[in-house]
Amino acid sequence: MVKHAGQFEYWRDVETILLDMDGTLLDLYFDNHFWLEHVPLQYASARNISKQQAHDELMQQYRAARGTLDWYCIDYWSNQLQLDIRKLKRELAHMIAIRPSVSEFLEKINASDKRVVMVTNAHPATVEIKLEQTGIHHHFDQMLNAHDIGLAKEQPGFWQKLAEIEPYNKQATMLVDDNLEVLLSAHDYGIAFCFGILQPDSQKQEIDDSAFAVIDDFTEFVAGLE
Ligand SMILES: [Mg+2]
Repeated sequence: MVKHAGQFEYWRDVETILLDMDGTLLDLYFDNHFWLEHVPLQYASARNISKQQAHDELMQQYRAARGTLDWYCIDYWSNQLQLDIRKLKRELAHMIAIRPSVSEFLEKINASDKRVVMVTNAHPATVEIKLEQTGIHHHFDQMLNAHDIGLAKEQPGFWQKLAEIEPYNKQATMLVDDNLEVLLSAHDYGIAFCFGILQPDSQKQEIDDSAFAVIDDFTEFVAGLE
């Protein structure tokens, strides 16, 4: 079951808005395509193995790193796979795209009295490429990276550590993130308003199950914000 967020009614109670990047503001299609199509092809060709074998080997390595900072670390994967991940990402940079109605959403919350903070697990080098391509950083009061904090957002202790460098009142904080594990960890910590994303990857199906209400149309979500 999935519950649509619709129009959020409690903007008055929100002081801080924490926003994820990939799959929330930007189309996750880039990342899925990169790791599930582009990297396997490059890996297969570098080792002279079949695409299927490359896929199987990579899936095993991806599974082992999931949920940790390594999973998001370009240096880790460059070293592990012996591929220049930075260079490969730059080759595909034209595929990086902002999700529908996100620009309007960012403009509106940026013009409000809320503090707007990006909190991403993406590696700083990836963030740099994505911001160059999209310009979304202009809308933020602060941008924080899990690699500087030393824990992935889904790991225990992350939200507490975040509060040490970006003090926030968790009862007056909203988080929008497409990752369910991240939402669960934030909710457990006590962040009051947690929302997911209905369709993080434009080329994949909408999610059909979530413990959190999900945003489909950001314009509708933000309609009640003065
Ligand atoms: Mg995400």
